[in-house]
Amino acid sequence: MTMRHPLTIRTMLERARLYFPDGEIVSRTSSGIMRYTYKDYYERTRRLAAALAGLGVTHGTRVGTLAWNQHRHLEAYFAVPCMGATLHTVNLRLPADHLAYVINHAGDNVLLVDEDLLPLVARVRDELETVKHIVVMTDGDLPADFTAADHQSVHSYEALLAAAPADYRFPDDLDEWDEAGICYSSATTGLPKGVVYTHRAFYLHSMALSLADTAAVSNRDTIMPVVPMFHVNAWGLPFAATWMGAKQVLPGPRPDPATLCRLIESEQVTLAAGVPTIWMGVLRELGQKTHDFSSITRLVCGGSAPPQALIEAFERRGVPFMHAYGMTEAAPVTHACQITRKLKDLSPEQKYARQARQGILVPGLEMRIVKEDGTEAAWDGKEMGEVVLRGPWIADEYYQDQRSQATFRDGWYYTGDVANMDADGYMQIVDRVKDMVKSGGEWISSVDLENAIMAHPKVAEAAVVACHHAKWSERPLACVVAKPEHKGAVTADEIRTFLKGRFADWWLPDDVVFIDEVPKTSVGKFDKKLLRDRFWNHLEVHQEA
Ligand code: AMP
Repeated sequence: MTMRHPLTIRTMLERARLYFPDGEIVSRTSSGIMRYTYKDYYERTRRLAAALAGLGVTHGTRVGTLAWNQHRHLEAYFAVPCMGATLHTVNLRLPADHLAYVINHAGDNVLLVDEDLLPLVARVRDELETVKHIVVMTDGDLPADFTAADHQSVHSYEALLAAAPADYRFPDDLDEWDEAGICYSSATTGLPKGVVYTHRAFYLHSMALSLADTAAVSNRDTIMPVVPMFHVNAWGLPFAATWMGAKQVLPGPRPDPATLCRLIESEQVTLAAGVPTIWMGVLRELGQKTHDFSSITRLVCGGSAPPQALIEAFERRGVPFMHAYGMTEAAPVTHACQITRKLKDLSPEQKYARQARQGILVPGLEMRIVKEDGTEAAWDGKEMGEVVLRGPWIADEYYQDQRSQATFRDGWYYTGDVANMDADGYMQIVDRVKDMVKSGGEWISSVDLENAIMAHPKVAEAAVVACHHAKWSERPLACVVAKPEHKGAVTADEIRTFLKGRFADWWLPDDVVFIDEVPKTSVGKFDKKLLRDRFWNHLEVHQEA
């Protein structure tokens, strides 16, 4: 027998402290670039744990963060789970009602908030039922206009750390099944759904991420997650990077393409990760100005399908591109697109085509592609089915949510993505069962939008579908059927004005087209696939015209 040693992420932090005290962490904050070592990082992380303990955080407490990719956020990434509490990385792009919901639903007691994001908190503060402490992450003084309220105190992160004892010891009796984190995933309609991660899940996911055939995270890397730390924990990179003692570069608030290019060049980044929208912006920047990307050994791209032209453009510039796939429910990485030994002699064009596929299942997981009749699709590049997964870092339910039953069945997680497999085991996502639009890496509920449009007095029916968009990958298009008496008398502007204020601006459809009828399936449901196929290129055609 072997030891029954728990798989907890405390060992990641201790390893970084012990072996890589000089390893560097570079963080872009609102006041500039700040850099420190893993030794400093460890000291501050345990001071943070001590400070949080002083605020009453203990085993099982949930601590929320509303923050960009910066060093204090990284401190919370380890301080919170390693003290036995749960890290809830709140997605700051959520609409206000969803923001309040996820914080209340998770039951966060403490919120760690970047100073420039305080207006988001101010908007929902009266609705927060469980938050007792708001800790402001700022380089300066506490803002004068954000003060304590009934049952809610406000603290300065730096003041708390300065006052905290330096000798805090992380408990070494955590269980691998203890909660380490929780993230919320957008639902097709209605409120987001929570996914809880155990220490064990983070541990095994980090190992899988670091395998040579996945992202090969190593000590020799300089890793820059552009994917937000509030979106599935920056794809788990902060955990793996700390474990390996890699140099980390955190690009801070709202990094633009020029900033990202400068950071890649000046910090000699080897692995950077983001959604296609990010890399499209960076490519445009590279077209205008020369930046040295020779340090990059893989530009990781996921969250949405990158167009083959994007992959090709980077590869032709000598920047290796790596396509990955996954989701909140899977911590998130399940597939990585590396070229296998068998395919190493492909021509560049054949290679780009493979790289545009979502790739091969990472070791440790199991997958089936399930057709509508319940049987498995053949690996012929043609037969399609839903991607269904199971494995040690895949969720088995949504946190306290009745919607779990529809998604987690018979020990499998039904992803809502439709794919085919080629003969070499490379998966390609071809459609989505879940009815949503993914714009720049963030979800928009088409169902919520169309329900709102159908409440317009002049509208009979409406369907919202995803259209291809050069910058955002997808944008919503509203297909509207006017009531007969209003045919020709309702305008696109009227619809958009009607939606304004009910949804965040970035949710509003880019265009509204008027059609005679929404096509229906044999059982009378909206056949949105037909509309999607018909209008997929609508925005490009429209923009060119
Ligand atoms: P999220 O939980 O927000 O990370 O979204 C996960 C979903 O994004 C997946 O179920 C897919 O629908 C989509 N997705 C993620 N990565 C890719 C990819 N590489 N290609 C196509 N779709 C993707």
